[in-house]
Amino acid sequence: MTKGKICPICKKWFIPNKYRPSKQAICSSIECQYQRQLSDMKKWRTRNPEYFNYRQTKDASWKETCRQRALGWRKRHIDYLHLYRQQHKEQHRAYMREYMREWRQRKKEKGSNV
Ligand SMILES: [Zn+2]
Repeated sequence: MTKGKICPICKKWFIPNKYRPSKQAICSSIECQYQRQLSDMKKWRTRNPEYFNYRQTKDASWKETCRQRALGWRKRHIDYLHLYRQQHKEQHRAYMREYMREWRQRKKEKGSNV
């Protein structure tokens, strides 16, 4: 028979997960799991007080590196895009010139036929 427990957070009776009964001290309701996560995090932070300071200083420089990299990438690609548009504008103009020439030609031929 499965033994029940009383959840210390909501004080409700619950049946622990049978695969890890010893580890589960609180019930599986979302609210209680969330509370447990919060207290775990607090416990962890008091055990590792330097971690977040360290992370922040590291993250700040890392973020800056990322930002610079992204800016550099964008700049390179904007140049490339400009170049691309420039080249294709010429191609497009040439294409349109050719198209119009043919169109006028066809129109003339048609006109002479009618
Ligand atoms: Zn509970």
